[in-house]
Amino acid sequence: MSSEYKVNWFNDFLGVAYRYYDLRMNVVPLFSDFKDASKFWRETVHWWIDHSIKIRFVEIENDYWFIMGSDSKRVENNSSLFKILPKSNYYERFKKGHDGEAYLRLGVYTKKSKKDVKDDAVCSCSHVKEDHGEEDDDSCLYEDCNCKKFESFQVNLLKKKKTVTDIKFLTENEIKDDVLAWNCFSTNKYNQEKESSNE
Ligand SMILES: [Zn+2]
Ligand SMILES: [Zn+2]
Repeated sequence: MSSEYKVNWFNDFLGVAYRYYDLRMNVVPLFSDFKDASKFWRETVHWWIDHSIKIRFVEIENDYWFIMGSDSKRVENNSSLFKILPKSNYYERFKKGHDGEAYLRLGVYTKKSKKDVKDDAVCSCSHVKEDHGEEDDDSCLYEDCNCKKFESFQVNLLKKKKTVTDIKFLTENEIKDDVLAWNCFSTNKYNQEKESSNE
């Protein structure tokens, strides 16, 4: 009966982290604050029916579409998630290592400045805090590095989790056979392209 409801696509999250935790790979949609993450869990993910949760990855050149949705015990306010993200080492590691199963958790992404972290904290330029200048100028000391400001981040995972066993990596040619991915692309890509070409 879920086809009576138009899928509501939720895009208002920062990205996705992939972490080993509790022996299984975790797929972690990231929010910028704890309140938003717990609200999204409470109102949406909490009502998802575990075995019906689906994650789809569709690679297009250097990016990939992250698509996740599920049947819900509260169909009227269900949402599916999608986000276009650049391929990363974490993503590639997940693709190789997931083994058909993952835990779904939500996470909170926090930026940390130099004073908040230990000496061995890694900057987004990949060099550690000690390799950055002190006091006012905290640019990176590696000659070939352009980093002007130490910046690191931390991901905190919410405790609640669900198990996902329906994970697929698809090409754009294969999505027409997949209800969730097809719905996502027709709403968020093909419709938009049609609208902009009509202008
Ligand atoms: Zn740096
Ligand atoms: Zn650096």
